[in-house]
Amino acid sequence: MKTKQIERVLTPPPPHMVGDGFRVHNYIPSGLGVGFERMDPFILMDYNSKFYFSPTDQPRGVGVHPHRGFETVTIAYKGSVAHHDSAGNSGVIKEGDVQWMTAASGVLHKEYHEENFSKAGGDFQMVQLWVNLPAKDKMSSPKYQGISNAEMKKVKLPANAGVVEVIAGEFNGEKGSASTFTPLHLLNAKLNKGGKATFNFPENYNTAVLVIEGNIKVNNSDAIKTDGLGLFKNEGEEFTIEASDDAVVLILSGEPINEHIAAQGPFVMNTRAELMQAMSDFNMGKFGYLE
Ligand code: MN
Repeated sequence: MKTKQIERVLTPPPPHMVGDGFRVHNYIPSGLGVGFERMDPFILMDYNSKFYFSPTDQPRGVGVHPHRGFETVTIAYKGSVAHHDSAGNSGVIKEGDVQWMTAASGVLHKEYHEENFSKAGGDFQMVQLWVNLPAKDKMSSPKYQGISNAEMKKVKLPANAGVVEVIAGEFNGEKGSASTFTPLHLLNAKLNKGGKATFNFPENYNTAVLVIEGNIKVNNSDAIKTDGLGLFKNEGEEFTIEASDDAVVLILSGEPINEHIAAQGPFVMNTRAELMQAMSDFNMGKFGYLE
């Protein structure tokens, strides 16, 4: 088995606010030369690095907005987020939980800091990914998967190295509960200082690691600091992460969909005509209603 090497290590671009509740570094697609296609099927990554929000009675967040053509996956590391959508789904994701929302043919939703978190204030740290859908599934029905940390598959590593949480896909033969439209793996490695974990993904899968906590070394050579993103080459299969101190690392790997991407704002389709249709449908109220 050939080693999958790091191609680039990125440090977070300057943050911007999404609504008033999400202070995000937009890693994908970004001015760092990482376009929509580079990590296909992961077409967007907004990273809210750890940030303290002061107490408030008015929950911060982002108001009602549409999506069509993909899935939003929100991973909560600190703080909690409440969500409502026009398909009638709602939920709260707390520290360690994941929300997997399939917008597909279209939903309206809103994303807010949960009420009690807002009142107390505190550290907030999240990742939101947009996972693209293949053309044949873009107009399928919206759905919602709330994955609590308690029900997440956890794989203990040997030598007290830590644990790997399987959000989607698999690790060492253990499968995560999220259902996906295309083959992908989404894992959280929680490593103790000095702990190592080895991962295997096909060469053609687009693969990256985001360091949520601590500092790591990849393949005993490339150092990645807290909040850094490591992009892998599309060569080789196997890589090893070693925690330089206690670390939490998000690992993403997915088979590219390799279809043309036509994106504008909250819509991601295959053609310009489909984008125009999405905007027209939204303007005509076909995405439903959400207060
Ligand atoms: Mn959204």
